[in-house]
Amino acid sequence: MSLKNIAHNLEATSQLISFIKNKNSSSAFLFYGVNSPILKAFAIEFAKALNCLNKSFGCESCSSCNEIEKNIFPDCYSYISRSGVDELREVVQKVSKSGQIGAKKVMLIINANELTKIEANLLLKIVEEPPKDTYIIFLSRSAKIQPTIFSRCIPIKFTPILPKDVGIEQEVFRTLNSEIETIMPIELASEKKYQYNNIPEILENFIAGIAWKYALNCAIENYLEVRSSIGNLERLEWIFKIEKAINKNRELLDIFMIQCIYKCREKSYLSRLIYIKNGLKANLSIRLALIRFLEMVK
Ligand SMILES: [Zn+2]
Repeated sequence: MSLKNIAHNLEATSQLISFIKNKNSSSAFLFYGVNSPILKAFAIEFAKALNCLNKSFGCESCSSCNEIEKNIFPDCYSYISRSGVDELREVVQKVSKSGQIGAKKVMLIINANELTKIEANLLLKIVEEPPKDTYIIFLSRSAKIQPTIFSRCIPIKFTPILPKDVGIEQEVFRTLNSEIETIMPIELASEKKYQYNNIPEILENFIAGIAWKYALNCAIENYLEVRSSIGNLERLEWIFKIEKAINKNRELLDIFMIQCIYKCREKSYLSRLIYIKNGLKANLSIRLALIRFLEMVK
């Protein structure tokens, strides 16, 4: 994804693009208005746009964009409010040192509305005089952050993502409603260490939380990548293992299916997938639902 291709929040993204075009140097921003995963997703896109080696406001291919997406870019830093003064000091120190040649450093302050006065004071100096080529981005649901910081930031307001923004029909959106805000950040990152054949194990070790969901998402992503090379028998065995892992837990099955639906690249399948998912309510067996469902997930 490129900052230029995001089909929503156009005002915010065009502000950021013109900021890059004007070659403004170091600066502090306040990204606010929606929840932090979405704000973080935008900040990541911004970091890619700043550092893209193809100068295309973020591409899918260059090493900088790839590293930023995988969260291994050496010049991106983040700090979550109230994680501890020592940790913050360490991050500030790292940011203050010069980065890779030519790289723009990006520092994210997550949940900036929760910053304590001590934390805000620690950040103040770096905000007032950011080191060369350094961008500090405060992420906060509301614009209410410590006034000393607020007055030194360029505020960029984001608005919630609507179903049409992510190419989902209204009816499908209603089914996914509670989870819609998690779509974007999850699409942004994927780690190779989770493979599709880890899915049964991941489901078996269900723990509610972002890390678990992330692992599941990466594994589903891998399934989408390699599905055409999986033999029929192999796939069937894999589905039986998933069925066993789900162990008749319909709630878990629901989570699994919803995550698959998110990952589905062919948006035209969504209605049919939802149809199968809903068929479970009408006593369709879990095994049959899984077979039909996973056949269609592309
Ligand atoms: Zn790039």
